[in-house]
Amino acid sequence: VYLKSIDAYGFKSFAEHTHVDFDNGVTAIVGPNGSGKSNITDAIKWVLGEQSAKSLRGSKMEDVIFNGSKERKKCQYAEVKLTLDNHSRKLNIDEDTITVERRLYRNGDSEYYLNNERTRLKSVLDLFLDSGLGKEAFSIISQGKVDEVLNAKPSDRRYLIEEAAGVLKYKKRKKEATHKLEQTEQNLNRVEDIVFDLE
Ligand code: ATP
Repeated sequence: VYLKSIDAYGFKSFAEHTHVDFDNGVTAIVGPNGSGKSNITDAIKWVLGEQSAKSLRGSKMEDVIFNGSKERKKCQYAEVKLTLDNHSRKLNIDEDTITVERRLYRNGDSEYYLNNERTRLKSVLDLFLDSGLGKEAFSIISQGKVDEVLNAKPSDRRYLIEEAAGVLKYKKRKKEATHKLEQTEQNLNRVEDIVFDLE
């Protein structure tokens, strides 16, 4: 799987519709401080389902919407679309090209799309879980991240290793299954009580 392009509108400093192509291989983005280089990685993390405004370097999620400048008025919504090459079928959708899109309006409404069809955040997270491309994955290493990993608590470091090894998916499924099991047990108890009352 590799990222083919990004389309952004209204996201942080991208006031106008912006299209960035990535060729196979290494792409370097250069520019002066504050010109918006990190906003590109923020955009990728955001589409992949980032829910923490802080890790997108803002204080609330609305901060990702272009906030106006001397020349331009603010945007009413932010929209970012990633186009991914999936010839390898590493992502579990049977298509060569996959698009993932997120939109956020100033009133807080949020929308997600997979291949242009409306979807839920959970479907986006599930698609990228353990793919090595998730928002927490090693594919995005921000400034200071290397230090952070080196200084991390053993439990936090273990989390990173589990994600890389592909264990997280199974942990998550186990948790979901255990939860279902508990609910079923409770239902069963309730049925037993009713049977007892009837007898
Ligand atoms: P550095 O090398 O210093 O990290 P950079 O090129 O990575 O810089 P970014 O941090 O990506 O730059 O970009 C910051 C710029 O984005 C700032 O100029 C900031 O004003 C602008 N910006 C961030 N959020 C918004 C927003 N919601 N509306 C308008 N501009 C924004």
